Amino acid sequence: MSGEITLQNLTERLIAFRDERDWRQFHSLKDLIVSLNLEAAELLELTQWKGEKDFEASANDESVKAGVSEECADVLLYLLLIAERCGIDLLAAASEKIERNAQKYPVEKARGSARKYTEL
Ligand SMILES: [Mg+2]
Repeated sequence: MSGEITLQNLTERLIAFRDERDWRQFHSLKDLIVSLNLEAAELLELTQWKGEKDFEASANDESVKAGVSEECADVLLYLLLIAERCGIDLLAAASEKIERNAQKYPVEKARGSARKYTEL
């Protein structure tokens, strides 16, 4: 494929992939959200039975990286389908969320703290 990969053209390819297979009928909003969470659980599964430091140290191992990459892609693809279904501009929503978080967690109060904004 040539050209820049964007969330928009990824979504278009994903919708085409889905529609060529007549899978829209299985993609209720509820089942898209269930599927997103199942893929997130597959990402989590990669860490199962591994110590935090060992897993961190293996982050650049090719096999670990390949597994994390695949599950992140699965999560993103379901997220794109959910956003498309709901008419959400994901980049704008994420940008606005960072802005809101910056308001909730001002640097002078939040720096170096793991506390929730209600406890700062
Ligand atoms: Mg998966």
